[in-house]
Amino acid sequence: MHDLDHIVKDIAAEMAERPDRGTVATYIPELANVDAGQFGIAIVDNDGRVFTGGDADTPFSIQSISKVFTLTLALGMAGDRLWRRVGREPSGSPFNSVVQLEFEKGIPRNPFINAGAIAVTDLILSGHQPREALGEILRFVRFLADDPSIAIDEKVAASEQRTGFRNAALANYMKSFGVIENPVDLALGVYFHQCAIAMSCRQLATAARFLAHNGRNPKTGLSVVNAERARRINAIMLTCGHYDGSGEFAYRVGLPGKSGVGGGILAIAPGRASIAVWSPGLDQNGNSHLGRIALEALTKRLGWSIFGA
Ligand code: GLU
Repeated sequence: MHDLDHIVKDIAAEMAERPDRGTVATYIPELANVDAGQFGIAIVDNDGRVFTGGDADTPFSIQSISKVFTLTLALGMAGDRLWRRVGREPSGSPFNSVVQLEFEKGIPRNPFINAGAIAVTDLILSGHQPREALGEILRFVRFLADDPSIAIDEKVAASEQRTGFRNAALANYMKSFGVIENPVDLALGVYFHQCAIAMSCRQLATAARFLAHNGRNPKTGLSVVNAERARRINAIMLTCGHYDGSGEFAYRVGLPGKSGVGGGILAIAPGRASIAVWSPGLDQNGNSHLGRIALEALTKRLGWSIFGA
């Protein structure tokens, strides 16, 4: 039996000391104001016990980690029809790449690059007002985390809405192929707001525990998705969750994971635990620098890589 509490506190203390902290994202101006000195970690185990270290209760902008929740929601609405609009292969390209979309006739490579996530959000939006679609996403996240206090940081959403020209280009390009059904500005509005959901490591690890337990909430036993769907979402996280850094993350950490430019990483140790780490400074691929290092240290110490100890 590992002493998880001791290990997470140890890793948090080690990360607090490190001088190399990466660089905070500046292309969304509001994210540039976040203090890079922060680090948090939370683990929710099989029995629903939570182990935390560092700034585990500080809310941060989950950004692209929201794509895990919208993919889960959209699969619940559309089932396998979703895969007509978006692929499920790793992209090997940056998160906001335009060039790949042109080669592939407006069909995004996977649901975790920006283009793919905008297409998934558009699917959730169809037949609804943006406010309703956003309400649906937020309610789902609150339900999963068992925490009604989770909210959208309107400042971050407005900041990205003002500056998200790349995402607008991706959405318009997909619209020209009929991949986006709704007006582009409405799909983007919902996307920017879902990315601006603020959550702490504790809330995030709690919300994702169903992915570590065959689709069930380990505390209540209630099923969120079936086991096959949970397994498949984990597979996409492993192959596509870190953009063109996905191979490196699998190599070093060895767990399905999803990063966000707010500096969070959600990682799933199937059958064992759900883990959230956060440190705002990013590496050159837009993934949390210390977050990845902390997860590597954690899986090494625990022998949790899915590829073996
Ligand atoms: N809202 C961000 C964007 O669309 C999300 C990117 C990320 O977290 O990787 O650029």
